[in-house]
Amino acid sequence: MTALVQQPEGYHASLILDGRIVDGPHRPEVRNPGRASEIVGSFVSASSADVDVAVSAAVRAFQEWAAMPMIERADVLRAAAEALAEDADGRIHLLARENGQLLSEARGGVMGASRTLSWYADLAATYEVVAELPTSNGRVIVEKQPTGPTALIVPWNAPTRLGFLSLAPTLLAGNTVVVKLPSEAPLALFDSLARIHHLFPKGTVNVVSGSGSTVGRHLVSHPGIRRVSFTGSTATGKQILRLAANSIKRVSLELGGNDPAIVLPDADLDATVSELVRGAFALSGQMCYAVKRIYVHSSIYGEFVAAFRTEVDAIRVGSGLDARSTMGSMINARQRDRIIQILRQSEAAGAEVAILGSTLDGTEDGWFHLPAVVTGLHDESALVREEQFGPAIPVMSYETEAEAITRANDSEFGLASSVWTSDIEHGFDLGRKLEAGSTFINIHRAGASGDDMPFGGFKESGLGRGHGVVALDEQYELHTVSSRRPG
Ligand code: NAD
Repeated sequence: MTALVQQPEGYHASLILDGRIVDGPHRPEVRNPGRASEIVGSFVSASSADVDVAVSAAVRAFQEWAAMPMIERADVLRAAAEALAEDADGRIHLLARENGQLLSEARGGVMGASRTLSWYADLAATYEVVAELPTSNGRVIVEKQPTGPTALIVPWNAPTRLGFLSLAPTLLAGNTVVVKLPSEAPLALFDSLARIHHLFPKGTVNVVSGSGSTVGRHLVSHPGIRRVSFTGSTATGKQILRLAANSIKRVSLELGGNDPAIVLPDADLDATVSELVRGAFALSGQMCYAVKRIYVHSSIYGEFVAAFRTEVDAIRVGSGLDARSTMGSMINARQRDRIIQILRQSEAAGAEVAILGSTLDGTEDGWFHLPAVVTGLHDESALVREEQFGPAIPVMSYETEAEAITRANDSEFGLASSVWTSDIEHGFDLGRKLEAGSTFINIHRAGASGDDMPFGGFKESGLGRGHGVVALDEQYELHTVSSRRPG
């Protein structure tokens, strides 16, 4: 395991401002959530002046980067993808240590960055930025022009994966960026960006870090920023929309979810149980499109709950670095305490809370929580209505498909959802009635939404779409140039 841009012990995330690696006097610690006494590293809490320097650099670099033919920008992205594919083990370990996830989960996140850059680089060969409108009189062209310097704000749960899903289409379109690292897990993303920023013209890729309420706010409000690409909670997304309103910045929001899974009576029970356990408890339930509510037909409810509890009981909770662990820690005490509180509320409301699984040695010093399966909840309880973002899942029964759809859709969220059935055609028919940006049939876990599939939320789960060609379309303003005369 090697080849971080620095030593893995005491890794420090600096700022990247106008092509230079810059340090600062305020250096908050990053601790391992699986071993809170272990300091993994530190990052710079940027000042407002640092943010100003980053944005000015992005503004200056924009003309040159935007003017480069897309096919040449794609070559730079390809070089970045190659640089990130090499020596990834150090970054995978760093990510697992800073956010407590399993090494296998961290591997998916780190390798996903390189894959996404390549996917967008390949798109450049066929992507059209100028279209002629058919007209019998004069000429009309519609040209896509990159929006301008873009703020990319990234959450801690999958920083490399989500950071690059935003970064790749933004850069390919010709926009420059200021990336704001998540304070809980800034290191692996910084290492990735430090490794590739010099491949781009100076000032194209800038990096800041620090608290959302100061650094993030200043960045989003900055007059030099024309577009904000935000991935994080719905509450912060609403603040960002308000801040962006002052200068009508373009905004893409990938926000929280409360994903329902509907299990029909004809579902393959073993396969469904095993997939749903994976979908609910990967990243300790801290995934935007984790399964967060399960509705099972009453005819198979008892059998499903028994099998589901058995499979959840096999989960071994421990350090992400321990190969025996099948679930890592939560990100911090606040998230862990939220799960404790929501389970207490559920019990007080008369639900049955089964705390299952087992802990490995060495979990005394971390923010671990055993997986919980909750039955007997009513639809208005917090665990059903809110995004729990942790290892606790409610399982409810339903009588009719119409009822299941109504209850699944009764949410202010609408990120993803799933239908479980042996009849795929029927799964599609039913799935199309769900109010969600994505509906999966017989799968609902990390990777289910491929790089080529539009992804985003209905309702309070977001604005705009990421992944695929649509994410590239979102990077542009449309400029219509015409000579057509009236009549
Ligand atoms: P968060 O909203 O607390 O923070 C996200 C980022 O925003 C961080 O970098 C933070 O520093 C910054 N921030 C906070 N306040 C800000 C402000 N006022 N202005 C600018 N930036 C600010 O979210 P989190 O706890 O890091 O992530 C978990 C949430 O993200 C969950 O709700 C999850 O569902 C959601 N999420 C959504 C997706 C998706 O694709 N839809 C993906 C991953 C996570």
